[in-house]
Amino acid sequence: MDFKDQVKSQVDIVGVVGEYVRLKKAGPQSYKGICPFHSEKTPSFHVHATRQFYHCFSCGAGGDVFKFLMNIEGIGFFEALKSLAERCGIPMPKRSLVADEDSRLRAVLFQMQELAAANFRDNLRGAAGVEARAYLEKRGLRPETIEQFALGYAERSGRALLRLFEQQGFDRSQVEASGLVRKREDGTLYDYFRNRLIFPIHGESGKLVGFAGRALAAEDNPKYLNSPETKLYQKSHVLYNLHRAKEGIRKEDRTILVEGYMDAIGVTAAGIQPVVAVCGTSLTSQQVQMLKRHSQRIVLNFDPDAAGANAAGRYINLLLDESMQVRIMELDADLDPDEYCKDRGAAAYRERLEKAKGYFYWVADRARAGQDPNDPGARVVVLRQLVPLVQRIPDKLERMQAAEDLAGYIGVERGVVLDQFRKAVATRQEAVLERPKIALRADERLLLCAVFDSPAMAADVVRELKAVESIGRFSSRRIFQAIFGMAEAGAEVRFEEVHARLEEADQNLLAEAVLAGDGESSREDVLAAIASIRRSEEQHHRSELKVRIRELERNGNWPEALRLTGELQAIERAARNRE
Ligand SMILES: [Zn+2]
Repeated sequence: MDFKDQVKSQVDIVGVVGEYVRLKKAGPQSYKGICPFHSEKTPSFHVHATRQFYHCFSCGAGGDVFKFLMNIEGIGFFEALKSLAERCGIPMPKRSLVADEDSRLRAVLFQMQELAAANFRDNLRGAAGVEARAYLEKRGLRPETIEQFALGYAERSGRALLRLFEQQGFDRSQVEASGLVRKREDGTLYDYFRNRLIFPIHGESGKLVGFAGRALAAEDNPKYLNSPETKLYQKSHVLYNLHRAKEGIRKEDRTILVEGYMDAIGVTAAGIQPVVAVCGTSLTSQQVQMLKRHSQRIVLNFDPDAAGANAAGRYINLLLDESMQVRIMELDADLDPDEYCKDRGAAAYRERLEKAKGYFYWVADRARAGQDPNDPGARVVVLRQLVPLVQRIPDKLERMQAAEDLAGYIGVERGVVLDQFRKAVATRQEAVLERPKIALRADERLLLCAVFDSPAMAADVVRELKAVESIGRFSSRRIFQAIFGMAEAGAEVRFEEVHARLEEADQNLLAEAVLAGDGESSREDVLAAIASIRRSEEQHHRSELKVRIRELERNGNWPEALRLTGELQAIERAARNRE
């Protein structure tokens, strides 16, 4: 067993995938969830626990745990191997340190982020951090919260990290690629973050990828500065605090989305979970897809000002397009989420959270705000504005219920307007991405699964099926041919090796067969399936003979027709004797 196989045999693919996708049990050995590799509303992404593979029936994405990690994290094989090895506590063999260039650079960049983070943390504790500490104290952050979020301080000189990286022997191209320095016009370098409170930013897997820095001096612009885009940090693909919150999101089946770093920290510190924030950017569809894998339910809790409301308004469509269930949580008295928790307490915040309105009530309120409440015409206007929003609800019954509720909420009486509203929301076009399904016979599927149960079972199936001519008509013929090929070469028939030899369409078929199977098959089941295939082969042979006999008779070829009739009778006699 090579190192890769050793890691693969110890790592649990369901656990690894489960950190990125909310999985539900779908069969004795299989789980399903929303596919992380394409945009979808109903789950078609499956993971098989014992065969250790994943497969999406809609977009066809599939493979083993390495491929999953490489694709979801956008990393190379070496990094995926290293990360999974660390996960199972298997030390990497030395020779594996010779990775490809890209993986090596990424490893160096990670190391530089960690060094910077340690430097920032030390600064915050030391003499230089006095102002930053005063700010945190003013914002009411407890020492354990500062510790938990690993906050730091970037000192003023603009040379601290440069010096540190030099001492550690990083070369200039590495330093420039780290996103932690800037270049002056004369080509000299200086630290990117200066005199700023530092928030470390992690990727979904918990690796440190970059930083945000809040200005401490009023004259420093911008107020928040994020690491530039690097090999590690793409701001549209990162959500602040997601690596800490994701388990809670799956457990609570809900995300609270806030606007700022301090909000995420303040709400979390108040004991309310799970909170994430967008990082110095507008919410992107990639970020929504990251959240959707963990839960489709989201509560937006933005600042109670016009800017916050506008952001929420903008994000609703984006979220609905990814079929998220959106609620809006509003706070009063001009307090942002962090201030609200401190001022009113966690219980009050929680109460607001539980009372958060479905997005269309919130939109209705906003639309109504500018209208005369006594003008029936104004209500119609509001209702019309709501049609497209309600139409986005995928489920028809839910949609109709929402239409009724909203009409009642706005105060529209039964009648023409309501009928029109109902009619408008009843119709909804939806493009459904479905791959054509190829049906497998039940016996065919059973044998396909049994092959992977044990070498003895594989030998039985291969021996019996090779003698069956009709296998050439099976939908799974190419899969069986691959299996026969491996058996002939004396190799053990293993799922992933068979999978690897197939074209995509057949990989899908094989995944489908294995996912639809329910656990191990007994020897009796296998023998019965082989017998059933034999019987249908015989039946096929008989009907072929009958067709040919009729043809020969039509052409007057009596001797040949007579010979085949004899053959047919012999087959039928044999079948009767068996019964
Ligand atoms: Zn997919």
